Amino acid sequence: MKFGGTSVADIDRIRNVARHVKRETDAGHEVAVVVSAMSGTTNRLVEWCREAAPLHDAREYDAIVASGEQVTSGLLAIVLQEMGVNARSWQGWQLPILTSDAHGSARILAVNGDEIVKRFQERKEVAVIAGFQGIHKETGRITTLGRGGSDTSAVAIAAAIKADRCDIYTDVDGVYTTDPRVVPRAHRLDKVAFEEMLELASLGAKVLQVRAVELGAIQQVRIFVRSSFDKPEDIDPNAEPPGTLICFEEEIVEQHLVTGIAFSKDEAQISVRRVQDKPGVAASIFGRLADANINVDMIVQNVSENGATTDLTFTVPEADYARATDVLTKAKSAIGYEKLDGATDVAKVSVIGFGMRSHAGVASEAFKALAEKKINIRAITTSEIKFSILIDAAYTELAVRTLHSLYGLDKASA
Ligand code: ASP
Ligand code: MG
Repeated sequence: MKFGGTSVADIDRIRNVARHVKRETDAGHEVAVVVSAMSGTTNRLVEWCREAAPLHDAREYDAIVASGEQVTSGLLAIVLQEMGVNARSWQGWQLPILTSDAHGSARILAVNGDEIVKRFQERKEVAVIAGFQGIHKETGRITTLGRGGSDTSAVAIAAAIKADRCDIYTDVDGVYTTDPRVVPRAHRLDKVAFEEMLELASLGAKVLQVRAVELGAIQQVRIFVRSSFDKPEDIDPNAEPPGTLICFEEEIVEQHLVTGIAFSKDEAQISVRRVQDKPGVAASIFGRLADANINVDMIVQNVSENGATTDLTFTVPEADYARATDVLTKAKSAIGYEKLDGATDVAKVSVIGFGMRSHAGVASEAFKALAEKKINIRAITTSEIKFSILIDAAYTELAVRTLHSLYGLDKASA
């Protein structure tokens, strides 16, 4: 059972979490619990680091930001004990959860779940584990897993103790066809395949950290997204609660063409105009961006007409826009292009569904529907189970709503 920041926002909410845990142990289930920091805490800790020094030691950043989870794990253990549930808190270094030394975005390498299982079996002691953090074995330093990393902690723990399921309790009751704040007729999906969830999470849906989904697929941990705001007492621990199961494609009987629509306004477009059309140019551009740790997403390059020059367009996170243009401007003569164009008021809208693999014309229907709404498309990319379009940010909501209806995702009554 994993509980996010809003679910442990104050002592009252932590009591609510404890009742969810007690419900499961009372029903005879063996559980381990992973918690996030209280909502807002990690942001504040990050802010303090920046205030102390804009460029700071990443090892100290981790020492600081890992503290939020230490607090909630201890608090939940206290509240559980007070309710008569035997409980003990665990920090990442105590289990241990071993990670790489990439401070600030470390990867989990190994988790020891033996003690968790043993203590539950011997004395029904529930482990309350601080999410988001681990330890690098060689240096002995505390590490953190990147923002939203408690999801990944939870999946890794679930794999280590061979859990039947990893329940992610959050402030929404599952994964929706798109953001219900934009499309009130969005509906909750009962099941989503790992591959689709991976796309949804990377393309803008914020329910789960992408790495958690990746790890779930690799370790074969079924992930169940559910609400912590449902009253613990109202839930029958032996019935199917409302939520979304992230599982393998084979488990999904009811298949549809499109599963969901994700969007992100945190995009920026960069066009490199009249770049030399010769081997090594793309490598030179994207190599420089990779060296600067800038993640490039959509890439479109035209076939040149004259064989001499062509245009190359791609997107980067909006936050990296200034850095990216800086890198490319400095290397202008080394790369060899005429000029750089860019825009930050753009949005990426993505349509995802593994039904697309075996059906033609899914994307062309979208282009037609968007044209009818006079929405101009700047760039298009496709893969096996999704396509993404880049449009002016002002049209994001209209585009998402149009596509949501087009693919029959609107629920009957809003
Ligand atoms: N507390 C961390 C964050 O806010 C980790 C998490 O909540 O998943 O990013
Ligand atoms: Mg989260």
